[in-house]
Amino acid sequence: MSLLVVGSVAIDSIQTPTETRENVLGGSATYFSYAASFFAPVKLVGVVGEDFPAEHVELLRRRGIDTAGLHVVRGGKTFFWKGKYLPNMNDRETLEVHLNVFGDFRPALPDSFRQSEFIFLANGSPVTQMSVLAQTPGARLVVADTMDLWIREQHDELMALFKRIDGLVMNDSEAKLLTGDENLVSAGHKVLALGPRFVVIKKGEHGAMFFSQHETYVLPAFPTAQVIDPTGAGDSFAGGMMGYLAAQRNFEPKTLKEAMAYGILVASFAVEDFSLERLKRIDRSDLDLRMEQYRKMLSF
Ligand code: AMP
Repeated sequence: MSLLVVGSVAIDSIQTPTETRENVLGGSATYFSYAASFFAPVKLVGVVGEDFPAEHVELLRRRGIDTAGLHVVRGGKTFFWKGKYLPNMNDRETLEVHLNVFGDFRPALPDSFRQSEFIFLANGSPVTQMSVLAQTPGARLVVADTMDLWIREQHDELMALFKRIDGLVMNDSEAKLLTGDENLVSAGHKVLALGPRFVVIKKGEHGAMFFSQHETYVLPAFPTAQVIDPTGAGDSFAGGMMGYLAAQRNFEPKTLKEAMAYGILVASFAVEDFSLERLKRIDRSDLDLRMEQYRKMLSF
């Protein structure tokens, strides 16, 4: 079933306590679409500058990702983000962000993208996210991500978006900021009351919590000792989750729980190297093997 993602395609520079990588492939839509491509065909909508290396587009295409919606701005520069991880490898600071062509990003979907049924609005301004909904009349499941910047600066627009989406994915710190509640369980229920039919709160190395009217549960992260670069973990989680849902063609509670688990497992691979490097070295069978280990770990 058709899965569409709209979000950033970026060049990142990453500093961890032990290593630095300059100018590697990043961006929320990039991680999302690569992660989702293990499960279902993906259509990507984003913008890059003329400086964006052709090999990156080729990498996405080789995964079957449809890049017809990746707009290249002549003479423009690609969105650039530089981040630094603290020794706990969970918290990070943004050292530099140059929006470049992403600053004027007004997604215009190719005709062949407009009937997509599963839609992921990766982190971006709620106004931009809303503009995608106006172009996707066939949407059956719309899930969005958001961040502290929009919670602080475009609160009303975000509230309007929440009334239009089915699912919301956010970090624990963002759920606390949005609700003013330090308890994640009550924060999750407060976010649910703002409109989405389900809410996923990501807790980094501690996994993810799920909230709907009928269910509240937490799934742990897959324990990996090899955390090299956590960048993109959240987007890879969302990609794995939405990819699995699109492949199953439904979003029943049982499927949603399996999808959460697959999201957690793709993310556990994504953090094991910089950029997409680890994901490039795995295939679906590696995910299924880790799923077996994960199921064993959770049964007692
Ligand atoms: P994650 O670690 O899942 O939050 O995603 C990190 C990715 O998000 C990086 O590859 C960045 O290029 C990208 N990113 C950082 N800041 C922003 C922003 N303000 N808007 C969109 N994407 C961003």
